[in-house]
Amino acid sequence: MATEDDGVHTICPYCGVGCGLKLKPGEEDGDVSLQPWFDAPVNEGALCIKGGASPQVVNHEDRLTEPLIGDGDGEFRTATWDEALTLIVDELERLAETYGPGATGFFASSKVMNEENYLLQKLARRYGTNNVDNCTRMCHASTVYTLRQSLGAGAMTNSMADLEEHGEVFWVQGANPAEQHVIAHSNYFREATRDGATLIQVDPHANKTTRDADIHLQLEPGTDIPLLNVVLKTIINEELYDETFIEERTTGFDHLEATLEGFDMEEAAERCGVPLADIQEAARIYAEADNAAIFTGMGMSQHTCGVDNVQNEVNLALLTGNLGRPGTGVNPLRGQNNVQGTCDVGAMPNVLPGYLEVDDDEARESVEEVWGFDIPPEPGLTNVEVSNAIGDAIHGLYVMGENPVMSEPDALEVENRLNDLEFLVVQDIFMTETAEFADVVLPATSWAERGGTVTNTDRRVQRMRKVTDVPGNTRHDLEILCEVGTRLFGDGFDFDGPEDVFEELRDVCPIYHGMTYESIGYEGIQWPCYEEGDEGDQYLYQETFDTDDGLGVIRGVRHQDPKEVPDDEFPLVLTTARLEEHYNTGTMSTRSPTLRRKTPENFVDIHPADAEKRGIEDEDYVTLRSRRGEIVLEAHVTEDIKEGVVWTTPHFSDARANTLTNDVLDPLAKIPEYKAAAAEVEPV
Ligand code: SF4
Repeated sequence: MATEDDGVHTICPYCGVGCGLKLKPGEEDGDVSLQPWFDAPVNEGALCIKGGASPQVVNHEDRLTEPLIGDGDGEFRTATWDEALTLIVDELERLAETYGPGATGFFASSKVMNEENYLLQKLARRYGTNNVDNCTRMCHASTVYTLRQSLGAGAMTNSMADLEEHGEVFWVQGANPAEQHVIAHSNYFREATRDGATLIQVDPHANKTTRDADIHLQLEPGTDIPLLNVVLKTIINEELYDETFIEERTTGFDHLEATLEGFDMEEAAERCGVPLADIQEAARIYAEADNAAIFTGMGMSQHTCGVDNVQNEVNLALLTGNLGRPGTGVNPLRGQNNVQGTCDVGAMPNVLPGYLEVDDDEARESVEEVWGFDIPPEPGLTNVEVSNAIGDAIHGLYVMGENPVMSEPDALEVENRLNDLEFLVVQDIFMTETAEFADVVLPATSWAERGGTVTNTDRRVQRMRKVTDVPGNTRHDLEILCEVGTRLFGDGFDFDGPEDVFEELRDVCPIYHGMTYESIGYEGIQWPCYEEGDEGDQYLYQETFDTDDGLGVIRGVRHQDPKEVPDDEFPLVLTTARLEEHYNTGTMSTRSPTLRRKTPENFVDIHPADAEKRGIEDEDYVTLRSRRGEIVLEAHVTEDIKEGVVWTTPHFSDARANTLTNDVLDPLAKIPEYKAAAAEVEPV
């Protein structure tokens, strides 16, 4: 039984695996030392290099410790909290009076806890706008969209634990768990493969997951749909599908058959750059297994056809009856430690807490009854739509823990637009690249200085706990939001800490309704948990799907080229992904001496044939260009990448990959196409 006697039990601040760890406070405020939490529910004491180094950012010398007010030219002066908050409230009121509340956007953060994201989206809605979004828009918006439409819930259908115990085949597409979800890979997938499970990897890049894969289908970037259509057509042709499951639990099989009529598998395999026989062998292994699970990552979601990419994975699972049982499902590996929770609590423009639709009158009224004010009935703008509308429909922006200058595509254009804002507030623990453009910067507390809940990739709501005292003149995000809300509206934001906020969240969020801080305890609870006493669900859809008619939706999809394809000027395809030792925009990880030592700067992988054509040798510095900008970084000449493709990482501000990426969006999920841009590389 865990106690707080020998260290405080909390959750790693980095990825969505949600590993538990223990921290011991030191002599000085901010000093914390790491202890293993051997019976932590997800990781049983194991941590990757990032989790192990996570205490290094807590008392880092770069921490913001005082509120700052900018002069508009990049210079800042220290301000009192009262001065900073008065300016924020005055400016939010002025913007609403001048342009209406819809002229301001609110960016929530997956680095921040459920209670804080809940308060930010409530603040936006009380202000009068649904323009509230979070970084899911950049990573799994298309996955969430498709899973909600076709199965019912925008989340992992199964759990890491049931997959390890029951999974026979793991189909991993567009994800690299050995690098990006390290403990999920080492504790669950690798364990299962050692026990005889088969790992099929579909990815343009040979990477750390490839070392454990039985089959690696190394496809061209942006050809996931034709590859999966070969799989589906093979299963249909060879009658490997589950006829009973299709008849009883799905709709749309006819549409899939019609879509695949006349589909040329040879031609599709050639487009993918993968031998047809290899794809078909993988299809048979998946279809013939008793239990087979799909894992999906940003290689699938970050495309203009992201919704259709994920739909084809749903098609595969439904066609073969691989849903609603342990060891099966369609399982997105979520990015940040609270990206699932940030969506669950309604920090999105189209849904309220618990995924209640904003434009559903009954659902909206159920929340209005608790909150005591009217919610705008139309969905708001997404992150990228807010950024694109700056200077036009958007004049104000409130950013909590996000860093769009690093994270959004076409980053130089994002910088230009931030200069056009009339008012920008950034609330963070460090002076981020985005905060440099702010009118007010508020110093927030870090993950080790406050408590609350976060929800990991398999829907497990877990508690983070305060370990050490607050440095300088920082404040908790929750306190800042309560103060802004109270100054703006007078009531509705008077909470006595995170548990008090969670109690209100439970009231409006049906899938969290049965949880309390006490019942979450040290084990956590996997939603849905509708009533107190419910233990939560390890896997979803045992009897029925959460769609209107209870059926899973099969829908045939066809290949679409990325919006930007190689040409004479930009003959290469640029794709990006994360490293094990760094995290997203690098705000925390690049400040960790351990992580920085492992990989101190950005690099680009290039195939030997492409390097030779350009006179580039391994470790040369090169210029990587796209239509939107250029960066200088080291070349790694490697056969891990296919000829014609280059690969880099998004973590480093001095060689910012998103300077190059394309801001074109999936039309339904509004996720940018990070994973395919036309590019060129040349020696410096
Ligand atoms: Fe933290 Fe993720 Fe590493 Fe676990 S796998 S220690 S949650 S970064």
